[in-house]
Order: sequence, then C-alpha cells, then structure tokens
Amino acid sequence: MNPRNALNFSGGPGALPENVLREVQQAIVEVPEVGLSVLGISHRSDWFAAVVAELEDNIRSLLGVGRDYHVLFLQGGATQQFSMVPMSLLPPDGEPADYLHTGYWSGKVLPAARREGPIRVAWSGERDGFSHLPSDDTLALNESAPYLHYVSNETVEGLQFHRVLGQDNVLRICDMSSDFLSRPVDAQRFGLIYAHAQKNIGPAGVTVVVVRDDLLENAPEDLPDFLDYRSQARAHSILNTPPVFSIYVVLLVTRWLMHDVGGLAAMDAINRQKAERLYGVLDASDGFFRGHAAERDRSLMNVAFNLPDEALEQRFLADAEAAGLSGLKGHRAIGGLRASIYNAVTLDAVEQLADFMDQFRGAQRR
Ligand code: PLP
Repeated sequence: MNPRNALNFSGGPGALPENVLREVQQAIVEVPEVGLSVLGISHRSDWFAAVVAELEDNIRSLLGVGRDYHVLFLQGGATQQFSMVPMSLLPPDGEPADYLHTGYWSGKVLPAARREGPIRVAWSGERDGFSHLPSDDTLALNESAPYLHYVSNETVEGLQFHRVLGQDNVLRICDMSSDFLSRPVDAQRFGLIYAHAQKNIGPAGVTVVVVRDDLLENAPEDLPDFLDYRSQARAHSILNTPPVFSIYVVLLVTRWLMHDVGGLAAMDAINRQKAERLYGVLDASDGFFRGHAAERDRSLMNVAFNLPDEALEQRFLADAEAAGLSGLKGHRAIGGLRASIYNAVTLDAVEQLADFMDQFRGAQRR
C-alpha cells in the first residue's frame, strides 16, 4: 500500500484502517460467502439483511444501549439531520429548543432548524472567534425546552466537549459526526445521536442515527416516509435502495474496533496519546505553532493551528506534501492548518507528523 495512505490527515473524509481497506479490496472483487462483488449484491438479499442486523447490534454494543434505541443508516449526510431532527421532535407552536452555537457546523444547523420551528441560541462563541466552548456556569439552559442540540466535536475549529452537557430532564440531541465511536460515550443520556460515517467509521454515503424509541411517538403523521425515523426503523434502513457498500464498510470498521482495537476505551487511549503528542509540539514551540482552541476544549480529533504568517503556512503545506504528509490545510472557513487524527490514523503516523513539525520549525530558525 502507498505509504501516503497512512499519512493522510484530512478533515473529511478521514482515512480508513489498513486492514479494513484490504478487506474492502477483497469485497469489491468478491464477498467470499456470497461469491459476488459487494457492489453488485442486492439490498434485498439475506446477506445484506444480516449485515444490517450485525451492524445495528455492533453499534448498540459499542455505545452500551439496548433495544429501546433504534440504529438507522440513512442518506443525506449529517446535513439532512439538521432538518430531520426538528421535523420530528420540534413542536411548531411550543417552547423553543435550545441550540448551542459553538463553531462552523453548529452554525450550519441553525437556519435549517429555524425553518421547522422555534429555536433559541442558548450560547454562542461567535464573538470570540469560536476559540472556546461554554463552561457549565456560562450556560443558561431552558429546563422546559423540548430538547438541547449541540455538536460534540467542532471539526473546523478543533473544539470538543469532554463532558455530557445539559440536564438529564431535557432531551439531548447531539451531532457526533467527527468524534463518533472515537471514545466511550454515555449514550443512554442522549435521546438522539447522529453521525455521518466519513470521519471515523467509513466512507461517505451513510449517516448513523441512534434514537430512543419512545421519542418517535409524537412525531407528525404527515412526514414523507423517507424523512420519518419511524418508517426507516420499521424497514431496518432498507426503505429504498440503501448505500450497501458504505454500510458494509462501516460494519467492517465496527468489527475492527471491537476485535482488533479492543473497544472504545482502548480506542480512546490511543486517540489521547496521538492528540497529546501533537499538542505537545504546539506547546513546546514558543508560539511558532499557535493552537486555535482553548486548552481545556482541545479536540482529540482535529488539531487546528496557525503559523506566524500565511506565507509560512503555504510553505509548511508544500514541504509536508513533499514529505508525503497530506490533508493538512485548514478548513476554508477559518484557513490555517489542521491535522485530523481520526481513529484510523496511527500513533506512528502522528509521530512522523510531529517530527516533521519540529524539523520545519527548526529550519525557520536557522
Ligand atoms: N456536522 C459535523 C460536525 C461535520 O463535521 C460535518 C462535515 O464535516 C457535517 C455536520 C456535515 O456533514 P455532511 O457533509 O455529511 O452533511
């Protein structure tokens, strides 16, 4: 395999584990137990029904939730969930739902939600350039809100909540697109979690929704089937032609997480080591590498940083590319640089990046 594959620090889509890529390569030619390419197996086959059933169970087991949670595999990306959540769960003439505006992606959620019903921005980090997250004492949440929505990891700014937010008596809804299955999570404290696959768990094309059964009882009856969690749950995500390939790859990634890595606590321990190594480089650089996020809110997934000027950032990117390290350009919304170190990025790859960063800094000082 080309070594550049292991040194891909792209913010999205993220890299996939090498073992999984090899299994995918095999499955594209032939899924052994079926004798057909995964790209040509019917979504109505027994094989695919078993894939979905195993994947539903794997995700329940990794998250520690029971059968009172539906696990759905939907299309439309995380973006579709920005609308689907309020369509089902936001009463049009009741109290507003609380939304936190903590960065680029939670900002994208707001207009979509407003179109469906009343919402209130309970906290915004916009004035401070989304450089930190709220502490509990700066959060004034509405205890009678129909739900609280937040984004657990702001992919662009590299901000991550390291605790569950809000009160247990208000329904929690969380976009976990960029840190899903990267660490243990107290999933039972959430009513609904959504996450697209293309960061930690697979290719683009499928979004996982984990939703507690009883929440769906009061959803409006006139939703189109495709946008109704109940119809999707009844059909086990095979309401129409689903993205069979993407779902199959997510299954392979969950097997890798459970059996090769050893579960989410083990994954978290590796992810922490990776993040500590990179933030260590930032902190020891005498201000040469300037981290975007306040220390307390640093993301274990996306390390966003700047250099003293833009010309130097361009040189950094060019030199990194020449050294085989790719995907380090920051998101277009804030510029700068970003190293995304999702589950499949190894500690060894992070060591190589850290060494490169130290050498680059050393070269500028000479
Ligand atoms: N939410 C978060 C946290 C993201 O990082 C992204 C994209 O990177 C999205 C939502 C949008 O996802 P999609 O492109 O799948 O609609």
